Amino acid sequence: MHKVTIGNVEVTALFDAPILMDPRHFMPQHADAFLSEFGHLADERGLMQMAVTCYLVRSNGKNYLVDTGLGPRKRPGFPSGNLDLAIRDAGLKPADIDAVVNTHLHIDHVGWNTFDRDDGTREVFFPNARFFLQQQEWDYWMTPEHLAAPGNAHLVECVEPLRDSGRVTFIGAEHAIDEQLTCVPTPGHTPGHVAVGIMSSGERAVIVGDASHHPAQLLHPDWSPPFDTDPVQSARTRERLFDWAIEEQRTWIAGHWEHPGLGRLVRLDGKRSFRAL
Ligand SMILES: [Zn+2]
Repeated sequence: MHKVTIGNVEVTALFDAPILMDPRHFMPQHADAFLSEFGHLADERGLMQMAVTCYLVRSNGKNYLVDTGLGPRKRPGFPSGNLDLAIRDAGLKPADIDAVVNTHLHIDHVGWNTFDRDDGTREVFFPNARFFLQQQEWDYWMTPEHLAAPGNAHLVECVEPLRDSGRVTFIGAEHAIDEQLTCVPTPGHTPGHVAVGIMSSGERAVIVGDASHHPAQLLHPDWSPPFDTDPVQSARTRERLFDWAIEEQRTWIAGHWEHPGLGRLVRLDGKRSFRAL
């Protein structure tokens, strides 16, 4: 398994699923530019290899899970996820997860929050976990209109059941989870999107969530996908996050970049670049 240590914190990449993204859907105004500049990062059909990777973060003896992938359910256009197997391969059981941070409430980040038993009952997949959810993100998505909208079944299945579970800690824009982990507001992809900053014994990292989907954005931070709720704000957030990670030499942990999405951002000849670990 791919692991990295940041001071006393250990981060393990848990592979939920591969995804192939068509640049004509992902960045419609820039698809031609993407293929001419980054064709080497696409397959023979011109599709971009991306990933759904979740991260197990061990800090102060606790197991935190950042994002829960696509989940066990088969949904149109998506594979089902394998996070359950990845957790097992990491030597853990779902009951060992002490807390979950959903960076935001999209379909590929909340999937394993719950599962359906054969008798039709729905349960939280991590029986001992507390869920850290950003209040603004919850308020944006959990409206009757969004819950009823086509394509939002994941909100009903994976988020709504948490409402009365007594397990949710609603957090503000910035929130210290413990003295080594902090949720950092990174709005634009969704209104309450958070990244997770790690700082321990002088070392730093950032788990970026969907503030960036692909390394091509290092050179083109304004290539915002159409599913960003505010593409202008997301571009600003993305650029700030890139530069922050470079300045503070933060290990870069990006769940949609090619698995395991672990590396360092550096500046080479004035251009941002990625060095995989
Ligand atoms: Zn995503």
